[in-house]
Amino acid sequence: MTNILYTVATDKNGQLINANDAEKGNDFFCPVCKSELILRKSGKTGKGAKRPHFAHRALTPNCTPETALHYSFKTLLADKLQKHVTTQTPLPFSWNCEFCGGQHSGNLLKKVKDVKVEHNLTVCKPDIALLEDNEKVFGVVEVVVTHKPEENALKYYNDNNIILIQINLTSDKDIDELDNRISRPNKVGTCFNPKCKTCGHYQSKKIMTIIDGPCWKCHSTMKVATISTSSGSMVDGHSNHLRPSDFAPDEIEFARSKGVILKTQYSKTVHGSYVANSCAKCGSFAGDFYLFTQYIAPAGYGELPSQTFDIGYHCDYCNNFEYENDDIE
Ligand SMILES: [Zn+2]
Ligand SMILES: [Zn+2]
Ligand SMILES: [Zn+2]
Ligand SMILES: [Zn+2]
Repeated sequence: MTNILYTVATDKNGQLINANDAEKGNDFFCPVCKSELILRKSGKTGKGAKRPHFAHRALTPNCTPETALHYSFKTLLADKLQKHVTTQTPLPFSWNCEFCGGQHSGNLLKKVKDVKVEHNLTVCKPDIALLEDNEKVFGVVEVVVTHKPEENALKYYNDNNIILIQINLTSDKDIDELDNRISRPNKVGTCFNPKCKTCGHYQSKKIMTIIDGPCWKCHSTMKVATISTSSGSMVDGHSNHLRPSDFAPDEIEFARSKGVILKTQYSKTVHGSYVANSCAKCGSFAGDFYLFTQYIAPAGYGELPSQTFDIGYHCDYCNNFEYENDDIE
């Protein structure tokens, strides 16, 4: 935890005010313990100058800057969300999805009709609750400084299809970054991809990559197709990619429609036949063992041109790319 300062106070009208905007000679109070604060603003900038902040006039053993940061951020954020809802202004946000490994984005307030701070859900009081029509809680925003949401709260959100949006704070500077922090939350407990019909988990995106690489034999450019998923659950090397021999018929058809030549080829290396990316000019094929080093890795480094296509969804739980031991049927 970096050193957190009191950078927000309550003024004599009960409004939150940032130390950056505060002027000396006015009365300021702690938003948490309500006791008197003094504005510390040196006017100096540059190295060694402390950023503007407040200090308690008297010692306050039960008040911590962490609590003040949590309170201030939560209150300012709730005000912002409420303003957006009232004026019907969309609030774009995006996140890295923990379920499918992809990126999602949307309008945080699309369904939201009301915003409530410390809304009582009996088992918990989320920092900010986002309500749909008929008062149904659609999502909650939890602002985390020191306390993560409790297990029973997480269970409640999960059981009631309430989307948890979590923002982790590490510094009072996060208050100045409030707009960015809400548009890029640390955690969003949902995924836009369809769930697996078998096991109910969110599926990851299935991506076909078609790489333009040289034929090892005649050096003319050939198209090489592989399939991976957005989750990257099999991150190391080969196992992250499906070879054409593992493609489903519709995947083969799709690759062919993009100009990939897929043919059943006999491999001396494995003493067997399998479907492989083949050269249109000389008929040679890119063997499974060379797919990664000769095509996928160079394309990953941008050394070979490649194109990607979303070709549906894949359940990491039901059908992992079982690809570890390289045995071919
Ligand atoms: Zn205080
Ligand atoms: Zn997702
Ligand atoms: Zn060739
Ligand atoms: Zn599944």
